[in-house]
Amino acid sequence: MQGIQKNLLDLHPDEINRIMVSRGERSFRINQLLEWIYGKRVLDFSRMTSLPAQLQHDLATAFKLTIPVIKERTGSSDLAVKYLLQLEDDNLIEMVLMPYEGKTTLCLSSQVGCQYKCKFCATGRMGFQRNLTVHEITGQIFIASCELGERKLTNLVLMGMGEPLDNLENILPAINILQHEKCFSFSPRRITLSTCGIVPGIYRLAESGIKLKLALSLNSAVQKKREQIMPVAHRYPLNKLKKSLQYFLERNPYRITLEYVMIRNFNMNREDILALRKFSGDLSCKINLIPWNQVDGSNFTKPLEKDIETFMDALRGMKIAVTLRESRGTDIQAACGQLSARACSRR
Ligand code: SAH
Repeated sequence: MQGIQKNLLDLHPDEINRIMVSRGERSFRINQLLEWIYGKRVLDFSRMTSLPAQLQHDLATAFKLTIPVIKERTGSSDLAVKYLLQLEDDNLIEMVLMPYEGKTTLCLSSQVGCQYKCKFCATGRMGFQRNLTVHEITGQIFIASCELGERKLTNLVLMGMGEPLDNLENILPAINILQHEKCFSFSPRRITLSTCGIVPGIYRLAESGIKLKLALSLNSAVQKKREQIMPVAHRYPLNKLKKSLQYFLERNPYRITLEYVMIRNFNMNREDILALRKFSGDLSCKINLIPWNQVDGSNFTKPLEKDIETFMDALRGMKIAVTLRESRGTDIQAACGQLSARACSRR
């Protein structure tokens, strides 16, 4: 175990196993190591007291166990907490922890910033810096579990900063670690990945064989309108997107969620409803409506309560579940589309 220090948290347990076996360790030691890290969440080899001192020393020489550092915590009146996290290269990301009745959800980031510049979203405005590494992704879960103490983290949504399908090289290994029985042991149906509609990424995800729930940020089923608010729609039009979703559904057991940000006087009229019905009618999916959350410097407007009701009623006629997302953390700029990693966001 010589050479430059790798982060052990970047490695799949099978890889850790291979390394340990190659240095003559027996399987119970490997299990002990994984239990310290993922069971007890101890990220310091010198505190892994059941391991021989020599092994602790050798591991510490060869490997790091670092995760992002909390720079700032901001609590919302609705109990959501936004975390500003600092990475080793000083880049900043955000994650949001949302304790609900009976479940606790972590909304985690997949990239520093985002390159897609959706008109209604704050993250796109900060530009794109880089992909997160495996340990920066799983590190967010370590942090959340630590913060929660006795309370268990039950659900993960990849809906924070960035486009997860553009970082599959790290997202897939991270999800493998999240689902592995010797690591975090998350059930596939408790992990949702949301995409703005990167068609090749959807095919790759389907072909990877990984099981999880997929959400698509649809926001309009009218091609021209979608292009107006999501520049990425030019590259991946709705007809191609739909084919990729069908392909995904053939290989994955879960229904797809279509996320639809409702913007007043923009995507909530009759034409929008008809298009949405047509797009979703023959897909195994559910629709999750999200009232648009205010983003600085944007000239969109929140939908009125009565318009939301009318829109929902018009969709209820279909055999598709329609739910309304209760946005958490709007008072602390932690809700959908508001993450932009500004330090001192409390001001
Ligand atoms: N890039 C991925 C992951 C980010 S998820 C994606 O686009 O899906 C962010 C979710 O929040 C998306 O469904 C997006 O449509 C929604 N969103 C973005 N800005 C919003 C805003 N201002 N108000 C409400 N929802 C917003």
